[in-house]
Amino acid sequence: MLEYDIVIVGGGPAGLAAAISAKRNGVSSVLLLERDRELGGILNQCIHNGFGLHTFQEELTGPEYAARFVAALEDEGIAYKVNTMVVEIAQDKVVSAMNQVDGMFEVKAKAVILAMGCRERPRGALNIPGYRPAGIYSAGTAQRLMNIEGYLPGRKAVVLGSGDIGLIMARRMALEGASVQLVAEVMPYSGGLKRNIVQCLDDFGIPLELSHTVVDIKGKERIEGVTIAQVDENRTPIPGTETYYACDTLLLSCGLIPENELSRSLGVALSPVTSGPLVNECLETNVEGVFACGNVLHVHDLVDFVSEEAEAAGKHAAKYVLDGAKRKIIEEDGIAVVAGKGVRYTVPSEIHLGRMAEEQTVRFRVDNVYQGSFVSVYCGKERVVHRKRPILTPGEMEKIVLGREQLAAYCGMSQITVTVEGT
Ligand SMILES: Cc1cc2nc3c(=O)[nH]c(=O)nc-3n(C[C@H](O)[C@H](O)[C@H](O)COP(=O)(O)OP(=O)(O)OC[C@H]3O[C@@H](n4cnc5c(N)ncnc54)[C@H](O)[C@@H]3O)c2cc1C
Repeated sequence: MLEYDIVIVGGGPAGLAAAISAKRNGVSSVLLLERDRELGGILNQCIHNGFGLHTFQEELTGPEYAARFVAALEDEGIAYKVNTMVVEIAQDKVVSAMNQVDGMFEVKAKAVILAMGCRERPRGALNIPGYRPAGIYSAGTAQRLMNIEGYLPGRKAVVLGSGDIGLIMARRMALEGASVQLVAEVMPYSGGLKRNIVQCLDDFGIPLELSHTVVDIKGKERIEGVTIAQVDENRTPIPGTETYYACDTLLLSCGLIPENELSRSLGVALSPVTSGPLVNECLETNVEGVFACGNVLHVHDLVDFVSEEAEAAGKHAAKYVLDGAKRKIIEEDGIAVVAGKGVRYTVPSEIHLGRMAEEQTVRFRVDNVYQGSFVSVYCGKERVVHRKRPILTPGEMEKIVLGREQLAAYCGMSQITVTVEGT
């Protein structure tokens, strides 16, 4: 059996940044396992620019952003295996994986970092009536077909769902000469970044119909068209509002789900909201020595924040390994971080004051569009943060930074609540 101090599952931006950080924080025995033929994760198919504005103050394409981290990984001499699928992680941190060269093999680790990314919600999960003809793709599949395999999925497209991948693919298809009729979104707000609505739809004259969905699909062999209808506040189609759009392609961009099979079978507790692991301030799951970061933890819209979070996971995993048996067991001073009114979830969901760094980033998403509201943080009943935000939308991840001193002043509290308030 191979032995490494830290094994990282997934070689996307999260896995890469976590590996580099673990090494730079003092652990040289690190192995990264990636099932794809190359490192870089989803970034390899994201050939548009817009990556790295925070990290490098430059607008890079996805492959360019990934290449910088791959180069750093190689400079650090970190071991990795591609074409290698991790099939199981046991409670004692024995990672089982397989590839064509080594066959099935096991690696014993002292710590494991989960960085498996996420996958798209498929048509089967969307309950769209109608036949199952060819020409219906998830937006990410279409992106791979176009940007990696070199095929145009169709010439006349409708996009359902206004997540970032759908917006980016609407523009991509238009750039390749396809006619993109519209993007329909069932919610009354877009699930994507504002900048993507402007740059991918407005700049290309592609309409966005909010509170609309597909109610029928025409075509048996190949899709011939879709019927779109307006929905009411319960997302029920309103009779009489139907419009038919002829098309040969329907792209679905209706949400991403963390790749949580390995986490679940390992016994990691998952959040019912994000479907990713519940973690503490070290990004450590309920299984001691197992950490999580990136889209497998919660879906991110900006890769810069993935890298930032993964860097923290790598650092905490390194500290866990280096501290070994000396590690502070401080379960009793755990404070729950709770999503209050207007907030869907927080990462982390627990902070141990005794172990927290000077500052702790808490990331969260709101449940609706709020204008001119405040983000507030309560320690017990005491409000310690009250920040005005011109606009909050579910499509854009938010963060607040809490100071240890600030929290220590409220010792004895059992709960920190993050909430949206009108005044
Ligand atoms: C279409 C699209 C457009 C985007 N556009 C932008 C943008 O313009 N700007 C921006 O900043 N961000 C953008 N993002 C967001 C950003 O790219 C992602 O948030 C980021 O790639 C997530 O990194 P990750 O490492 O968590 O996941 P991924 O990149 O998905 O990497 C996860 C890796 O884990 C591997 N893996 C999974 N399971 C296993 C297993 N069992 N064994 C071994 N390996 C495994 C996968 O093969 C994959 O390589 C975009 C994302 C998408 C999908």
